[in-house]
Amino acid sequence: MSRGLMWFRQDLRLSDNPALSEACRSCDELLCVFIDDPMEQGISRLGAASRVWLHHSLAALDRSLRDEGSELFLARGDASRILRDYIEKGGIDRVFWNRCYDPATIARDKHIKSALSDCEPRTFNGLLIHEPWQNLKSDGSPYRVYTPYWRAAARLVDEDETCVDTLQKPRVIPGLSPDVANALSQKLRLDELQLLPSLDWHESMMSHWTAGEDAARAQLERFLKGPVNDYGVNRDRPGVAGTSRLSPHLHFGEISPRHVMNRLLAGRKTGALSDDENTFAREIVWREFAYAILFHFPQTIDEPLDERFSRFAWRQDIDRELERWQRGMTGVPIVDAGMRELYATGWMHNRVRMIVASFLIKNLLIPWQAGERWFRDTLVDADLASNSMGWQWTAGSGVDASPFFRVFNPVLQGEKFDKQGDYVRHWVPELAEVETRYLHKPWELDEATRKTLDYPEPLVDLKQTRQEALDAFAQIKGTN
Ligand SMILES: Cc1cc2nc3c(=O)[nH]c(=O)nc-3n(C[C@H](O)[C@H](O)[C@H](O)COP(=O)(O)OP(=O)(O)OC[C@H]3O[C@@H](n4cnc5c(N)ncnc54)[C@H](O)[C@@H]3O)c2cc1C
Repeated sequence: MSRGLMWFRQDLRLSDNPALSEACRSCDELLCVFIDDPMEQGISRLGAASRVWLHHSLAALDRSLRDEGSELFLARGDASRILRDYIEKGGIDRVFWNRCYDPATIARDKHIKSALSDCEPRTFNGLLIHEPWQNLKSDGSPYRVYTPYWRAAARLVDEDETCVDTLQKPRVIPGLSPDVANALSQKLRLDELQLLPSLDWHESMMSHWTAGEDAARAQLERFLKGPVNDYGVNRDRPGVAGTSRLSPHLHFGEISPRHVMNRLLAGRKTGALSDDENTFAREIVWREFAYAILFHFPQTIDEPLDERFSRFAWRQDIDRELERWQRGMTGVPIVDAGMRELYATGWMHNRVRMIVASFLIKNLLIPWQAGERWFRDTLVDADLASNSMGWQWTAGSGVDASPFFRVFNPVLQGEKFDKQGDYVRHWVPELAEVETRYLHKPWELDEATRKTLDYPEPLVDLKQTRQEALDAFAQIKGTN
């Protein structure tokens, strides 16, 4: 008889979970575990919004396991010590988990793998379609530019369609005999993990979402039934629900990117992917690219990949401006709308993420790391790989970056992508009655009207600060 341990991490689902499938196939009894490990940088870097999501996601996973006659054991503390304790008290002889790719977790897992060698730990890919070492240039080095990475990834999928074949939920998830379950002392109630903050802001935030595998799959099907058909255009319109909103589900592994790709490609049986579907596939692969960059260039979590940026003349005294940006009180409507959407819902539209990031970096001259930290704390989809890549892309200091001299003009961006102003009116109600032609630049209204608005004057002059940023960039441009 064999008794296994399935260690859930960023894979909070039952379907298409390779580690779980193998554990169920090869064990007669299975202990399912989640450990909130404060030493684990990947997890401890979870911000407040992500911890709220995690709370609900663990509750959903436990419900699904109980429906199958199993349950989720929760523990808090050093993962290595807790796993050893489970193994000894539970008579475990095999351990299974899906791999993570951030540097701290890789180091921690390596240590655990050798410390538990008596249980022959087996690890799997449950987080990505292709692992970071699978899609490389012909000379074996990692891609630094997205388009060739995407072409190679698409080729890999074409050549080996099995890489998007997804696993069904295990037919049987073996439980634990009651005497073994009772012998395990490491078992906390969900509320004892203390993932929820004392502020009740999280309840209104979660009213915009349902965490868990069932919700993730339903969300994907809703998206594939309709919005995907206009994705190419609507993905840039923050006032339209035109994107999949799968990011938190993907981050926590409530759904696998293989399953998303598999469902998307299911339509291909009757012909090629449409342009809209293809654009969506490219975004799923951007996430893969971000993980590849995290794996091959782990320093990019905190440091610019382009070293010239470590000498950039950032503003020194940033507290006031940073706080106005965080609170959505910069006086620049589309920036404020985005920052308020973020605080209220834990999510922000991609187009607006680029606008608010560009504003912070290139108009306020605040280092991108300060914005990355705020996003990490407030996004429900906060992801070490995608977040650092998104910020470095906007700063112009990362891989395949937007050039530094491309400064997003928030007025033009607003006028182009929020033409009628629905998005700004919704999130900045002080401006709800403003005529559309002034909505994205209320500072051009006459003074008497402005006084009635209860909305701040712009924090900075957009044109002047843009020039200051370009001047600062000119100073590092020729250096090495
Ligand atoms: C400054 C900045 C910070 C960001 N931080 C994060 C983050 O912490 N977590 C995160 O998941 N995404 C991040 N992104 C990428 C992107 O904004 C979100 O993935 C997207 O808005 C999520 O919404 P969606 O699920 O509706 O996306 P869709 O448009 O429906 O895309 C489908 C999926 O593709 C992936 N994806 C889409 N765009 C990107 C991208 N540019 N980079 C990587 N993956 C992408 C996501 O997993 C997304 O769920 C960031 C972008 C920027 C510019």
